[in-house]
Amino acid sequence: MRKRTKIIATLGPSTTSSKMLTELIAAGTDVFRLNLSHAKIEDAKEIINKLKSSSLKLKRPVATLIDLQGQKIRVRGFAKKDFVNLKNNQKFVLDGSLKDEEGDDFSVGVTHKHFYKNIKTKDEILLSDGLIKLKVNEVKSNKIHTTVIRGGKLLPFQGLNKKGGGLSLKGLTKKDIADLKKAIKLDIDYIAVSFVRDKNDLIAVKKITDKKNIGLIAKIERNEALANIDSILDHSDGILVARGDLGVELGIEVLPAIQDELIGKAMDHDKLVIVATQMMESMKTNRVPTRAEVFDVSNAACSGVDAIMLSAETAVGKYPAEVVQEASRICDIAEKTNIKEIKIGDKGEIFNKIDQIIAMAAVYGADRSNVKAIAALTETGSTPLWMSRIQSSIPIYAMTVNEKTSRRICLYRGVYSIRLDKIEHDHARANIQVIKLMQKQGAVKKGDLVIITKGDLMGTSGGTNALKIVEVGKLLKV
Ligand code: PGA
Ligand code: MN
Repeated sequence: MRKRTKIIATLGPSTTSSKMLTELIAAGTDVFRLNLSHAKIEDAKEIINKLKSSSLKLKRPVATLIDLQGQKIRVRGFAKKDFVNLKNNQKFVLDGSLKDEEGDDFSVGVTHKHFYKNIKTKDEILLSDGLIKLKVNEVKSNKIHTTVIRGGKLLPFQGLNKKGGGLSLKGLTKKDIADLKKAIKLDIDYIAVSFVRDKNDLIAVKKITDKKNIGLIAKIERNEALANIDSILDHSDGILVARGDLGVELGIEVLPAIQDELIGKAMDHDKLVIVATQMMESMKTNRVPTRAEVFDVSNAACSGVDAIMLSAETAVGKYPAEVVQEASRICDIAEKTNIKEIKIGDKGEIFNKIDQIIAMAAVYGADRSNVKAIAALTETGSTPLWMSRIQSSIPIYAMTVNEKTSRRICLYRGVYSIRLDKIEHDHARANIQVIKLMQKQGAVKKGDLVIITKGDLMGTSGGTNALKIVEVGKLLKV
């Protein structure tokens, strides 16, 4: 049996060759992220094509996620210097009038013009992912005078955050809109929106993606997003707990509690949830993860998230395939040793859609019987999505002739995607086809019970409306 928790690998210089992409899929990568803070959208097409051929070779669908850069404030650069060393207690000025290469040991420019308007005396400013801490003494026009509380090495164009958030910038930038317009022309599956403040940032993206059938993931990396989390979930397909920027804004010590809260919220809304950043950070340079990283990945898998995301570990790390292998093994063990009993109807929820009723009947039924697996014949992926919203340990094999659906469902927890070349229209023949495939995958053996869900007109989007229980080896002969 394969792991239920999905793995997202960020692509970068370490991972662009076809050979490496194939290795990453074989190691257990389900979704590939292209981070537009570093990569160019113009390079996406070639990567997507390479991914398609690797995926075909291994007969394992994978999804692509394009991550928009979003509004991240950064310091500018320095004159004749690669970096500056800020010392404790020295004075340092964030100067809105300095250009890219005009910074020095005592001042540096800032990429956002109106940044100083949201800063006041005694605010804390964090540079370089929180490594450097400044305390604001005075704001004089567009110059922010500070004292260095915690010094360190400051490189050009490193990030800048205010403790507690509140820099209230528009979510979508001109670059995001331009990138998005190019991205929707490609065969992609998900868009991640960075630094989301509220539902309006998502509505703006949806206006452009429109009817393109692209999933929307809201990256939660700002304090403001926490207050708007319910409406953000209502307007997206899921959220990503972006522990990097969120940790800088809120303080890393509150991250575990916030992560739990966000996972719970996503589950209450029946939406997808991804945990990201520094999951296996030490494997950028080491062959084995730290004990703490093993616990982090394992805890995420046990808490029932859809996916964990690897960032620099796979983008620029030394051992991309090994990281995915390790993460896969940790998830697999965590899932096997942490089987939760599902509670029926604990949310008092009413099922409104026919495919939802079928999905619930299948999962609850399988959980309370000796059914070994569920096979969902699906066109849009809606039924397996409902099934995967229940934390069960029953494997869900989603089979589809629709290529886009076969990729999209790769992010759903516990759903194994199988792409079919064609589907038998006769129900008895279709059952035989499904069971044969599952036997080939080693999912079931003679005597096992399997639930098959499907619609009247398979291969067309009519919606799942039927549930069948079959015994392997005792199917109706045709
Ligand atoms: P990033 O976002 O990887 O795009 O920076 C994730 C995070 O901030 O944790
Ligand atoms: Mn971020």
